[in-house]
Amino acid sequence: MTQQPPPSDHAADEADVIVVGAGPAGSATAHYLARAGLDVLVLEKSTFPRDKVCGDGLTPRAVKQLVAMGVPIDEDDGWVRNRGLRIIGGGVRLELDWPQLASYPGYGLVRARRGFDETLVRTAQKAGVRLAEGVTVTGPLLDDRTGRITGVTARQTAPARDNGAARGQADEQQSERRYRARLVVAADGNSSRLSVAMGLRKRDDRPLGVAVRTYYTSPRHRDDYLESWLELWDGQRLLPGYGWIFGMGDGTSNVGLGLLNTSEAFANIDYRALLKRWLAGMPPEWGYTEEHRTEPVRGAALPMGFNRTPHYTRGLLLVGDAGGMVNPFNGEGIAYAMESGAIAARVIAQALSSAAGAEEVLRSYPQQLKDAYGGYYTLGRKFVGAIGNPKVMRLATRHGLSHPVLMRFTMKLLANLTEPRGGDASDRIINALSRMTPAA
Ligand SMILES: Cc1cc2nc3c(=O)[nH]c(=O)nc-3n(C[C@H](O)[C@H](O)[C@H](O)COP(=O)(O)OP(=O)(O)OC[C@H]3O[C@@H](n4cnc5c(N)ncnc54)[C@H](O)[C@@H]3O)c2cc1C
Repeated sequence: MTQQPPPSDHAADEADVIVVGAGPAGSATAHYLARAGLDVLVLEKSTFPRDKVCGDGLTPRAVKQLVAMGVPIDEDDGWVRNRGLRIIGGGVRLELDWPQLASYPGYGLVRARRGFDETLVRTAQKAGVRLAEGVTVTGPLLDDRTGRITGVTARQTAPARDNGAARGQADEQQSERRYRARLVVAADGNSSRLSVAMGLRKRDDRPLGVAVRTYYTSPRHRDDYLESWLELWDGQRLLPGYGWIFGMGDGTSNVGLGLLNTSEAFANIDYRALLKRWLAGMPPEWGYTEEHRTEPVRGAALPMGFNRTPHYTRGLLLVGDAGGMVNPFNGEGIAYAMESGAIAARVIAQALSSAAGAEEVLRSYPQQLKDAYGGYYTLGRKFVGAIGNPKVMRLATRHGLSHPVLMRFTMKLLANLTEPRGGDASDRIINALSRMTPAA
């Protein structure tokens, strides 16, 4: 039998598409590109398994994406199912099951990002994606004449695995290497240095959240519901945001809180102190005290409502947090990272197969995102603006929560879970509102 020669460095450094970052957005994009028959190289600065600051909660919207990608989600592999949301506030404790819809599964999941992100990227590799771990992208390679991105420069910043794309000789650790591709996808998360280097900065007319989280060993580690606490107080001031307690099923709870930048308090809040004060009011037997904390309290930003645009420029497409796609209503980002990855992959596959009109197809990507989320995110921005006013927030928690029908409607709206066509009255109202509201 003749053996295939190992791929040359030249081939290893070239691909149809380079995806920068192997979070949920990058893995989903790469997976669908490989399934479309394209040669895809993912460059990821960390090595798996790696952590990511997150609540680890997945709504049915995210579960749908996992099922579509063929990710194994067996409970034996550490995936914990939930049946809905428990909302606590205004003296009310309400359990709302996820809506039963034809378009979405009827359950959510919890899974720590350490395992979640690795499972996703391994699924993408099985589809044919080449992954180079420990490779930090340092900037775009540009065509002098057109300013178009033709690849990226990168450094091996952690020992490489045997991935066929980057080999970890000691002398390579510091030297910069060039990777070339016909198109590049920025899936490098909230700070998206690659987008910034291409001139795409964050928009300050769009909402931004900040959230902190940690883990505690707790008897509450198994829970059929994702629990949200709507009342976070800064002295006498009710803050726009919520706290969460998600059972990890492994003896621990993921506990955290997030706030929106629409309140005056946003800039001056000490998030760790707020978390401590909030948890001080919990029953001691739940174990949310220092001696049961298993991880440091860590925080990060949630870029919401398209807070970086345009989503396509000069050969570069933005997916997930890089494109600011977190849902402003509830802070959920994983589902949108994966969905935008699927949309981007479809657009790229089409563009690369139609030489003449390729650029036109690529330019349709921002419009396709607007069609999918634009109106809904505009509504989300208005919602976020409204609850930035403590009076509105107080009114909503005091009076809204005691109306189960209103709350079921609100849950569908906040989690963006409606039947796209038909459905019940609340589905139709939410869809109509999203359609009527201008996408911006
Ligand atoms: C505290 C907190 C709680 C949250 N809770 C939830 C939740 O419960 N549910 C939910 O759905 N969402 C939640 N989110 C949002 C969610 O974490 C993000 O929306 C999601 O991770 C976005 O995925 P992404 O792939 O776009 O980016 P990321 O997950 O950030 O992945 C980006 C990847 O790019 C890599 N990278 C970055 N720069 C480079 C570079 N220069 N070169 C190579 N690689 C690079 C990173 O290492 C990383 O692997 C939460 C966010 C925070 C901060």
